[in-house]
Amino acid sequence: MFSLILAVHQPKQFMKKVVAGIDIGGTYTKLGIIDRSGKIYAEASIQTDSYLEITSYIKQLSSAIRKLLKECGEEVGIQGIGIGAPNANYYHGTIEHAPNLNWKGVIHFADMLKQTFDVPVVMTNDANAAALGEMIYGSASDMKDFIVVTLGTGLGSGIVVNGRVVYGHDGFAGEMGHVTAVGNGRQCGCGQKGCLETYVSATGIKRTVFELLAVENKESALRTINFEELTAKKISTAAESGDFIALKAFEITGKMLGTSLADTVALFSPEAIFLFGGLANAGELILKPTKEHMEKNLQPIFCDKVKILPSGLTQANAAVMGASGLIWKEIIG
Ligand SMILES: [Zn+2]
Repeated sequence: MFSLILAVHQPKQFMKKVVAGIDIGGTYTKLGIIDRSGKIYAEASIQTDSYLEITSYIKQLSSAIRKLLKECGEEVGIQGIGIGAPNANYYHGTIEHAPNLNWKGVIHFADMLKQTFDVPVVMTNDANAAALGEMIYGSASDMKDFIVVTLGTGLGSGIVVNGRVVYGHDGFAGEMGHVTAVGNGRQCGCGQKGCLETYVSATGIKRTVFELLAVENKESALRTINFEELTAKKISTAAESGDFIALKAFEITGKMLGTSLADTVALFSPEAIFLFGGLANAGELILKPTKEHMEKNLQPIFCDKVKILPSGLTQANAAVMGASGLIWKEIIG
């Protein structure tokens, strides 16, 4: 361990420069050692939700990073640690009141990790990390103004203006999932009602399917699946085989997203909007109605100018690569 910490303190010139990218999710934490070109030297995952205390989690995470650095196969010099996490504050290096994590209140995460690794530790929410990943490794490398919308359990957004991720005054900018899509609508986990993510997310489309099943009496392959077992994948498979309920659920979801994105375009005038994550894997089923309803709600000055595209990042390690982008882009530059 001593020799490794020595290596961390004194990165020699011949060492390959790498960054540890970490993606903290509610259930799993994924991590990888990545160079500037996007080559992944080693990767692993640890359980997130089995650690009730933050100190024991940090201990496990630190040892996983050390293990990966050892596994790299050649001498590497770690330049920093980039972390994507729910409710992560870019300015303070904290995770604050994250509803899907065991650790409540304000966690001084970056400071805790710096006690083991004497390198920059930078964190932001997973959608901002995805936007950095899109900029460095994905399809936005030649764009200055674009938005990444992550469609997973919830809905996140990373907004890039003039080549920089927008963090806002207090570090939490880009919470598109919590703009009001329907006045007094569905209850959201944030405490408000009618937030966009209660309709447009893997969970949101499931809620829509169940509403449709109650209102419509058409045959559907989705009728025999209970809520816990229903997934966005199962809904898209049903839609591909012409299932009325599934197709209608995608249409409603795309309409909600497209209408909200028209508002976003009016504010930021992006070149493109990338859809990333579980629900985005449905491809045209979600892209088509989203594009159509965005265009319907745009002012003429914006019409036919904004591309709706699938993310250019491969799903398996995209979040980890995006997190590494925090160091490559925001620290090394
Ligand atoms: Zn909300």
